[in-house]
Parts: sequence; structure tokens; C-alpha cells
Amino acid sequence: MDWAAVIVAAGRGTRAGGGLPKQWRDLGGRPVAARAVAALRAAGAGRAVAVVNPADRALAAAALPGVELVEGGDSRSASVRAGLAALAAEPPAAVLIHDGARPFVTPALVARLLAALQAAPAAAPALAVTDALWRGVGGRVAAAVPRDGLWRAQTPQAFHFAAIAAAHAAHRGEAADDVAVALAAGLDVAIVEGDEGNIKLTWPGDFVRAEAILRGRAMDVRVGNGFDVHAFGPGDRVWLCGVAVPHDAGLVGHSDADVGMHALTDAIYGALAEGDIGRHFPPSDPRWKGAASAVFLAHAARLAADRGYRVTQADVTLICERPKVGPHAGAMQAALAAILGVEPGRVSVKATTSERMGFTGREEGIAAIATATLVSS
Ligand code: MG
Repeated sequence: MDWAAVIVAAGRGTRAGGGLPKQWRDLGGRPVAARAVAALRAAGAGRAVAVVNPADRALAAAALPGVELVEGGDSRSASVRAGLAALAAEPPAAVLIHDGARPFVTPALVARLLAALQAAPAAAPALAVTDALWRGVGGRVAAAVPRDGLWRAQTPQAFHFAAIAAAHAAHRGEAADDVAVALAAGLDVAIVEGDEGNIKLTWPGDFVRAEAILRGRAMDVRVGNGFDVHAFGPGDRVWLCGVAVPHDAGLVGHSDADVGMHALTDAIYGALAEGDIGRHFPPSDPRWKGAASAVFLAHAARLAADRGYRVTQADVTLICERPKVGPHAGAMQAALAAILGVEPGRVSVKATTSERMGFTGREEGIAAIATATLVSS
């Protein structure tokens, strides 16, 4: 099912301390809301819209690069309406509305919601109440409250887009959450199993618990490889790993034919199971004719960051008899590292000949192989 995410991040909540609204506070090196967005993207969100307070716009733009930002309204409901309005021109089949202060939503939870939307116009995660409940008055227990049928609601809450858009358009006044809006419109809301780890950060102690959850998480390490070849043609230089190297030929290609950068870009796409350059930048698209390949590598690096990964290592091997790569390897390392946003010591560029055998040995073209390692952050 084609679905989009609306991340509600317009609150001014500072009960968690730290001076900043909680969704913009750092959690293990990344803002809380950035983790929430990355988690939904990793779960398959086609689009992500974040609703932010106008006062936080600069914070949000820095924390959520590439995410569509819309300004929130005076209330939570108004903020959600603004988020839905941003999607309305090209409406997705479904929308998941999520609290920017819940950074640990999992693909499994999202899968349960999407499955429930096959049979109901709305679905939301919740956990059954297991503790005894009391009503207290003045510090004394006034009465025990039956807990049968009581649930603790979580987000994301999932809806058929048209149904929740209509429900919000018709709603008057404030609502506790989007399920309340859906119920007011008469929508059937399925309950799916929530997740104890899907905590909402509200109090200072929640951040301590969230840091502990992060420490206990298995690090996700991914390795991808890439391979590319370009043929020699007329020219007086070849672009290799972002450096123009003088030569008695050029390389033929739709873009600048930077064979090393293409191999590395494909290695990162490979680690993300995101296909290859041709899928993201079709050669049939005239926009990429003569393009600097830095555009491709920067896109792959951005995609990795959006999914919650950082590139920790890259290794490129250029295979050619000529030109000599050694004198330029340092500049190539620096160029690739700058695009990836890592220190040059994490990027290797080396070269080999093929002992005059095969197409590279006959100097018909240059081949390149690359490996990249991505680590969840
Ligand atoms: Mg290529």
C-alpha cells in the first residue's frame, strides 16, 4: 500500500528539560524527530511531511534534511490538518500520523498497521493496561478502576487518506489524537498490538530510558559493492573519483563518466538494497546528461542518512593501464570524503592494472570496483 507519513513535531514541550522542545533534543547523536522520520522511512514511507512550529523552522531544516516542512497551527488538530493538506495534491492511499517524540517505531509495528488497513479505514497501536488502576483524590485512593477493555494508545495511527482528511475537515474543536477525530466521524478503528519500546519522550527520565534502549540495540552493519566500466573516447582528460586527470583520451558516458564514483555510488545503494544509479538517475532523462557524478554520490549518501545509516568506510579500486592514478589518489580521497561528509581517512582510492590482459589491458576503457560499509546511527 502506498503510504505517507505526517510527523507532528510542532509542540513546545520542554517538560523533558534540556532547554529545547523535546523533539529537537539530541538522542545518541541525532535529534529525536530525525530518528522518528528515519524509522518511518525505513518502514517504507513514500513521503514524509513534518509539521513544525514556525519558531523551530531552522532547527527542523537542519534536523530533517530533505523532509517537507509545513507550519503547525494553534492546536494539535490544526497541525495535523496542515500536514494532511500538504499531501492532498497527490494523495497517498494511506497516511500514518506519528508523534515526533516517539523515535523507536519499528517496521514490524508499521506492517501490523498496514495489514489492518486492508480491513478497516483506520488502525492504531495500543497496549493493554496490565497495572491496577486507581482514582485518587487528595493523595488517597478513592476507588479502584476496572482495567478491563482499557488500552494505552500509541502512534503512528494509520488511516485511509481520504477518510481521515474528511474526518479532520469536519472536526470542530480539539481532540486528544487522530483516533478521536476518526471516531467522531464514525470511522471504524482497529487496534493492533503496540510495542513497549515505542516510547514517547516527555520527562527527563524518558531520555535516560531512551539512551539505554539505544545502547542495547544491536548495531546494524551493512556492506555493499559496486562495479562499473566506461569506454575511452575522444578527449583530453578523464574524471576519476571527482578529479579531472589529464589523459590522451576521455571516457564516454551519459554523465561525466566518472567510473570510480559510479562504482562507489552503487556500493552505497547496494548496502541499502536501493538498486543502482540507473534506477535513481535514468540515462533516458536529459537532466543527467553531462551531470557531475557528485550529484549521484551525494544522493546515495543522503539516502543512507535518511534511513539512519552513516557511511563509515569506502574503498575504490580503479582498473586501468593508464593514466597513472597514484599521483591523484590523495585528491580523489579528499573529493569523495567531502561529498560523503566523512574524514578522508575513511575513504580509500587505489589502482591496479590488469597486466595488459582483457579490455582494460588493451586500454579500451577503465573499470572500477568499490565497497562501502554503512552503520546504523
Ligand atoms: Mg557508470
